[in-house]
Amino acid sequence: MNDLFINGSWVSPALASEGREVLNPFDGSVLTTVAEASAADVDLAVSAARHAFDTGPWRRTSARERGEIVRTIAAYLQRDKEDIAHTETLDTGKTLAEARTDVDDVTAVFEYYANLADADAGRMIDTGSDTAVSRVVYEPVGVCAMIAPWNYPLLQMSWKLAPALAAGNTAVIKPSEVTPLSTVHLVRIIEEAGVPKGVVNLVLGSGAEVGDAMVRHRGVDLVSFTGGLSTGQRIMATAAEGVKKIALELGGKNPNVVFADTDFDTAVDYALAAAFFHSGQVCSAGSRLIVEDAIHDDFVAELGRRADLIRLGNGLAEDTESGPLVSAEHRDKVEGYIASARAEGARLVAGGSRPADPDLQAGYFLRPTVFADCTNAMTIVREEVFGPVVSVERFRTEAEAIALANDTEYGLAGAVWTNDASRAQRVAAALRHGTIWINDYHPYLPQAEWGGFGKSGIGRELGHSGLDEYREAKHIYQNIAPAPMRWFKGAGGNK
Ligand code: NAD
Repeated sequence: MNDLFINGSWVSPALASEGREVLNPFDGSVLTTVAEASAADVDLAVSAARHAFDTGPWRRTSARERGEIVRTIAAYLQRDKEDIAHTETLDTGKTLAEARTDVDDVTAVFEYYANLADADAGRMIDTGSDTAVSRVVYEPVGVCAMIAPWNYPLLQMSWKLAPALAAGNTAVIKPSEVTPLSTVHLVRIIEEAGVPKGVVNLVLGSGAEVGDAMVRHRGVDLVSFTGGLSTGQRIMATAAEGVKKIALELGGKNPNVVFADTDFDTAVDYALAAAFFHSGQVCSAGSRLIVEDAIHDDFVAELGRRADLIRLGNGLAEDTESGPLVSAEHRDKVEGYIASARAEGARLVAGGSRPADPDLQAGYFLRPTVFADCTNAMTIVREEVFGPVVSVERFRTEAEAIALANDTEYGLAGAVWTNDASRAQRVAAALRHGTIWINDYHPYLPQAEWGGFGKSGIGRELGHSGLDEYREAKHIYQNIAPAPMRWFKGAGGNK
């Protein structure tokens, strides 16, 4: 199993292992078995990245040339689009339409950072003196450890890798052990595009061993992580020992606020997509619906009706609208949240169980689930469920809506639905979340920063800030007419 890519070669793990089975969540079948790395492989990978950074040509390559290579990666992603999308569907269970969109989005991110690579060579500073020149330049941070989750395997990795490469860093990357396959394809593309050896190194394996070894390694300068809150907290604590730079993209509990003056049909339609897109396994899922009293009952009834109609199935089938959850363990976790909602008094409007369809019994399916009569004291409203479950709360005033929407320890994203333009802006300004959609849900742009307030994370991906995560600012000051300044004259006049 030569699935690890270290120092420009596809290699087997340093220690013998049986590897790890990768399952298809649609039916639990084994797709393939991949190598399982250990801390020993992390050490080799970090050493290769360290050597490539310290001695290799990558960071000294002109920014324009690096940009060209990053652009080539984008072109090869498009060339291999169908193949990659197919792999992503098999591995995650998402529909082919979603997986194809993912590849397009990933391509756009590589293209964006290809264009940005040489767009900013720093700036001159006014020293107030004719004899001093001062400038600020940007340099790569160094060796970056990148750890990604399973919901958007390729996408989340690209938000890290594209800017890091454009800025001249080297990297050791680890996809989730649940969904490694599309990242292996990406690394083959990176190799083909001409990224020098040692610049990108791939390790596969568990978070507890391989991920932890990456975070601890003394040769790593920066850790960029996307995943759950508790893992992020652990990574932050571990990285603190080495005072490593960290970027954390963690969970969300995202409010979708609907005022009565909005277009009813459109708002229900988007509330459905916000909650159930990719079976709700989206960090920015609109899993917390907050609806104005006047339309609340009709809204809940219509949402429940439409949720029941969503077509579950094999992501590879063109008529499937939603696939399974990613694993049996994850479905168990989501079912635990459904049980807690019932126990805490939420009213089940739709779903709440596995589908009865005999064709879906081998997969990790769960019906789209709507709970009404929820309060912000309930577990289902406070914690990230990361599954096809939406809770509905009711509000009467704008102030109440804002207070509810901000009553979360997270702060990743949120939306407001209203036809009153000034109210839309007021509410958007008041919400303490990293992305606010007005009369929309889910779009993001490579040019616009993504990240969270509160416990949704530290730092930003995408946009200019997404590049800044991977750059150190350096001030270079030159005195072009040096002469003694005689600050210390000393007892004898210092002459
Ligand atoms: P997770 O935290 O279980 O795992 C994420 C990655 O971290 C995996 O690669 C895993 O192997 C690794 N890992 C686990 N323990 C580790 C440790 N001790 N040290 C180092 N690495 C370790 O998360 P998940 O279940 O794969 O993904 C779901 C979570 O990701 C959700 O909470 C979701 O909100 C979050 N997410 C956030 C964003 C965002 O942009 N903010 C995007 C996607 C997903």
